[in-house]
Amino acid sequence: MVIAVSKGRILQEALPLLAIAGIVPHEDPDESRKLILETSDGKTKLVVIRAADVPTFVEYGAADVGIAGKDVLLEYEGDGFYEPLDLKIAACRLVLAGRGQVENDSRRLRVATKYATTTRRYFAQKGVQIEVVKLYGSMELAPLVGLADYIVDLVDTGNTLKANGLVMMEHIADISSRLIVNKASMKIKHNQITDLIGRLAAVTG
Ligand code: AMP
Repeated sequence: MVIAVSKGRILQEALPLLAIAGIVPHEDPDESRKLILETSDGKTKLVVIRAADVPTFVEYGAADVGIAGKDVLLEYEGDGFYEPLDLKIAACRLVLAGRGQVENDSRRLRVATKYATTTRRYFAQKGVQIEVVKLYGSMELAPLVGLADYIVDLVDTGNTLKANGLVMMEHIADISSRLIVNKASMKIKHNQITDLIGRLAAVTG
């Protein structure tokens, strides 16, 4: 079985859970240059990849199982996997933030975000027309330099917003990491995968 895990904070918080489930990589994923890591559970390998690539690996069956943030899953336009378990790690919120209410009738509001699809869907549900400015990082900068009126971004402590004079305006979604499973793998490797789900469910409560 191959498990794809998002790099960074999710990996750091997932490793202790996987260890309790009996899966410990032979090498430190932060140090190793290997892309496929063997583990203490001889049947399981880990691939550590960019967060946005995890659903793709799982949908196409390159990984049987994935660990990815709900933010990435909301943004991903595919349904080739199951989402059986909330691992309750890397928890944060997806929010609309800005410098305060913008008075503007003359043009559409501009919203800067990495989450273009989720942002469009959110405003479409509210019946509000906006223009999405797609960014890949440092969203908080956009309202400060006049690139956008608002941002849609992840917030944990709120310190980053505060440090940049921004305030949270609307809560869009609660985010945490989820276990996702390729649909075919769920059938073919049913025992192995349900066993993993059971062990992780016992840890996450
Ligand atoms: P904070 O200052 O604690 O509110 O964190 C906000 C910054 O951390 C923003 O740049 C977010 O994009 C990023 N961030 C917060 N929570 C997460 C998370 N669970 N996963 C990835 N990035 C996050």
